[in-house]
Formats: sequence, C-alpha cells, structure tokens
Amino acid sequence: MSNSVRICKKCVMDSTIKVISFDENGVCDYCRLYEHRLDTELYDGLERTKMLNILVHKIKRDGKNKQYDCIIGVSGGVDSSYVAHLVKKLGLRPLAIHLDNGWNSELAVKNIQLLLEKLGIDLYTHVINWEEFKDLQRSFILSSIENIEMSSDHAINAILLKTADKYGIKYILNGSNLVTEGILAKQGGKDIDYRLLTDIHNKFGTKKLKTYPSINIWNFAYKVLVKKIKFIPFLNYFDFNKEDAQVLLEKEYGWKRYGGKHYESIFTRFFQGYILPNKFNYDKRKCHLSSMIISQHITRDDAIKELQKSPYLNENIFEEDLEYFLKKLEFTKEEFEKIMKEKPKDPIEYKSYEKMFEMLRPLVYIIKEYAKGTKGKW
Ligand SMILES: [Zn+2]
Repeated sequence: MSNSVRICKKCVMDSTIKVISFDENGVCDYCRLYEHRLDTELYDGLERTKMLNILVHKIKRDGKNKQYDCIIGVSGGVDSSYVAHLVKKLGLRPLAIHLDNGWNSELAVKNIQLLLEKLGIDLYTHVINWEEFKDLQRSFILSSIENIEMSSDHAINAILLKTADKYGIKYILNGSNLVTEGILAKQGGKDIDYRLLTDIHNKFGTKKLKTYPSINIWNFAYKVLVKKIKFIPFLNYFDFNKEDAQVLLEKEYGWKRYGGKHYESIFTRFFQGYILPNKFNYDKRKCHLSSMIISQHITRDDAIKELQKSPYLNENIFEEDLEYFLKKLEFTKEEFEKIMKEKPKDPIEYKSYEKMFEMLRPLVYIIKEYAKGTKGKW
C-alpha cells in the first residue's frame, strides 16, 4: 500500500488527501497556495509593526467609552492563550469568551483560569446544554460527514458574533495563524452552514435544539458586512513561534502544555487522533506539520519522523479516551465500530449550502477576506 502513496517533495501532504495535485517537480498545490498566502497575507519586520500599530489604534478608537474594545475566544490552548497575553500587553481591553461544550480537559480549565486571573481579563463562559449538544454530536457522528467538529465550531462562532454585537465590539481576535495552520485540507462542510447542521440533526437527532447557539448565513453576512464585525487572525501580526510562546506562557503564567495540538479538548483529541485517521484516512498532523515546514519552523525530515509516531500520545490515553467517549455519547462499542466502518459521506448528500458556496466562490472569498480584515481591505 505505502508504495502507492505519493508524498509532496516539499511538505508532507500526500496522495491520501482527498483533493490534491502535484506539479512536474512533485510539489503539491497546497504548498503553492500556502506560499502565495505567506507572500500576500503575512507582513515582515517594519511593515508588520506598522500594520499592528494601525490595528491596535483602530481597536482602541472604536472601543472608546465601551466596556471592552475587543473579544478573544479562549480554549486554553497555546494559540489563544498567547493572544490573551499579547492583547493585554498592547493595552487593549478584551472580554474573553469560552465555550464549555462538556469536553474540556481539566488542564484546559486550569490553564484558562490561571492565565486570565493573572492578566485581569473578564471571562464569559458559555456552558452549552449538554443533552442538546450530545444529541447534535451524536447526529454528526452518525451522519458520516468529516467535519464532525462543526457542532462545536458553529456554536463558538455564533456566540462570538452575538456577544460582539451585544457589546458593540467590532473586533474578534483569534489565534488562527498562517505559521502553524496555513495548510488545511479541503474538508466538506463549512462551519457557518446552518442548513447542513439542521438537516443532519433532523435526520439523526431525537431532541429539539432549543438553546444551542446558532447563526444562519444571512445573519452571519449581516454581522460581518453591515455591522462590520471582524475576525482578526491576530498572530499573523507577530513573528509567531509556537515553542517560544509555550515557554513564555509557562514562565509567566504557570500555564502547562498538552502534548498535542488542540489536545485541550478530549473530544478533539479523540476525533483527530482516532476517528479522522481511521474512518476518513486523514491524519491532520500532515497539514499542521506541512505548514510548519513551509514557514520554516521545522525541517521536512523531522516532520516525517513525527508522522511515524502514532497520532495518539500513548495506548493508555487512547483506551481511556475511547471508554470516556462511548460513555459520554452513549454509544455501545458495537454501534461505534459499525459507524467507523460506514463509508464517509459528502455534505452534498445532505441539504446544505455547499452548492451555493461553490457557485458564489468569489463572493464567499471576498466576504471571508473582509471578515478577516486582511491587507488593503480596510
Ligand atoms: Zn506540498
């Protein structure tokens, strides 16, 4: 089998990724797109400092006489924790928002508390109604579409936008960044597609979603285009180095590391470490490591070595997580094994906005860029 897998000459993306192509030099299209994004979206040196100063000035100006001038989403992970640190150092007045979807590791909760207390940042935690959310997560797992995390990600975006609107805040600063997350495999199902979410839940769910935080795409577009609320990938304004950020957080705040990207959530750990590679033949570490290769934070050889390790830290944690996952979502072992064997489905097989997004791609792109407040757009 392994003989037939083709690996990009530059990064570690390979032919197991659903949509990928290689040029005559054996370099994949993800590399090319990513290099283009680094060129056009990431600033260097002086230019970066200048852009950051402009951004900070605008945030302060627009937030004058308001209780907060920006919102930061916190998960307890490195990226968002580091954003909290930076924002405060720059003299901004953030409100931190956290979604408690029932899957936080104890360490994540502790990290958030320690950090925000020390920084003196107000925290609003939205505790999701577990019975509803369980029903929705079960539905996504039963639907066999890949973007299972949509059930959480949609809710986070909805809460961030609604809270921003409520407080009259225009800036949501997040930890997404090109350095470690610039390469992402195309995955069916967009987080803002409430139509898809509803259809999946109608087909597989049993409870009504009465309190689940949601937002339809028209309301999303309204908040972004008319209310001008922006999602700023804040770390792109810095020379972001993950290892340095972790060392700083440990030293200054007693923050502790998790041993894996996004391992602050037990669900995410299980999803990325087991469900994705085994059911969808997709090892997300490939994207993450490829981004770090092209942005020159790791060598390709080291990335290949890393990929030879199991996606799970160790077998014991896997067994514990599996048991916890089954019990929490009320699946029997047999049921879950059957789901794992079922063929993955494309969101297009459900009622969704996939086709419309595809047709209106240039427009969707512009709205996305507008929402991010990238170069020249504001
Ligand atoms: Zn590549």
